[in-house]
Amino acid sequence: PVRVRFCPSPTGNPHVGLVRTALFNWAFARHHGGTMVFRIEDTDAARDSEESYRQLLDAMRWLGLDWDEGPEVGGPHAPYRQSERMDVYRDVADRLLKGGHAYHCYCTAEELDERREAARAAGKPSGYDGHCRELTAERIAGYEAEGRSAIVRFRMPDQPITFRDLVRGELTFTPENVPDYGIVRANGAPLYTLVNPVDDALMEITHVLRGEDLLSSTPRQIALYKALIELGVAKAIPEFGHLPYVMGEGNKKLSKRDPQSSLNLYRERGFLREGLLNYLSLLGWSFSADQDVFTVAQMVEKFDIADVNANPARFDLKKAESINADHIRMLGEAEFAAACEPWLQAPHAPWAPEDFDREAWERIAPHAQTRLTVLSDITANVDFLFLKEPVEDEASWQKAMKGDPAALLTTARARLEAADWSSPESLKDAVLKAGEEHGLKLGKAQAPVRVAVTGRTVGLPLFESLEILGRDRTLARIDAALA
Ligand code: GLU
Repeated sequence: PVRVRFCPSPTGNPHVGLVRTALFNWAFARHHGGTMVFRIEDTDAARDSEESYRQLLDAMRWLGLDWDEGPEVGGPHAPYRQSERMDVYRDVADRLLKGGHAYHCYCTAEELDERREAARAAGKPSGYDGHCRELTAERIAGYEAEGRSAIVRFRMPDQPITFRDLVRGELTFTPENVPDYGIVRANGAPLYTLVNPVDDALMEITHVLRGEDLLSSTPRQIALYKALIELGVAKAIPEFGHLPYVMGEGNKKLSKRDPQSSLNLYRERGFLREGLLNYLSLLGWSFSADQDVFTVAQMVEKFDIADVNANPARFDLKKAESINADHIRMLGEAEFAAACEPWLQAPHAPWAPEDFDREAWERIAPHAQTRLTVLSDITANVDFLFLKEPVEDEASWQKAMKGDPAALLTTARARLEAADWSSPESLKDAVLKAGEEHGLKLGKAQAPVRVAVTGRTVGLPLFESLEILGRDRTLARIDAALA
């Protein structure tokens, strides 16, 4: 049975790279009817925070990436927060030491630096040189007497390590590139290098799907796994698949600090969960050659880790928006209205709650659904209906009121007053005719009307908007603009 894990460290805000990793693991698990394990790697007290932990859970829930084992849901391998598993790591570290798979290393940082420099200067591999691999009892006693403290270092095998990456195919790492590495700090704190594979082993993870930045950890973890199997801690080495880098602006790796990479940004702008997941799934994977809009369910059905591309993926905000727009179109009418609801209320909505007119909203909503890219845009698109006065935007006025639109507005007002307000066609005809009288095409003639009535230069279809706003309020706003 497939068992995958998503195991973020709770530092900072969730970002899109992390979500992509979670999504691919989740889709893989769901595709294979497997188990999704959610583990929190919070062994770095200096960087981890409870707030970030909360945000991670909240993000996963919002995205609908559910987990079968992990925080809040529990499971047979609980606890799923590494900070609560310290005795497990201590025990495994002891067993690795006893079995000769790891040793105490007394080298100081200065000594390590010095020898690294010397190796570099001599053109030799500059990783750990095995200095403390075979210390005599005497040397150890000497170091202890000096008051040195020791880290625990894992003893890498002297043979190359080869494995078949699920994305990249066969990879080989030679010993000089993967030196012995620390697994427990001098103060006794276990490191990622230990806790991550130990938990993968104990939680019986079958597939490790994670970012390419962790590729260099894999030969170390495979070696550690072999030791764990010898000790009876692990049963089998999992398969590994490394997801490609995501490149942002200027073809640089998208970083956590990049504002574009913050998941919160997408939530606040009103991306749909389906739209965002659809887009993120395309970062390294494709649904088919001629279809890039699909549902999460369709993705799950089709997802195969073997189809993930090893080449770096390009993050493209415009494409993300356009896919999101497609998902907005795909919603049912009621679903769309429900999705907009948060943006029709404080703190997003600038109108007083009692001025919200649900009937007007229900009439305008279908026009918005065919045009919005992100849901947060709904507020500005419908505020003319619920604000007592249209928004006042000097730049919009300047743009739409070039020349002297007063004459046109006066004519338009008169024609609108006389129009049949039961259909947008008649309102359009009124403005069209007013334009003709002043030698203006419809587009030019409707711009000042739009700004006078909505305060904005762009928005939903104007004549439908006027009809829903109603005759009296429309005329009053044109009067106010003319005053
Ligand atoms: N906690 C690690 C990270 O967030 C997990 C890496 C892994 O998937 O092995 O980078």
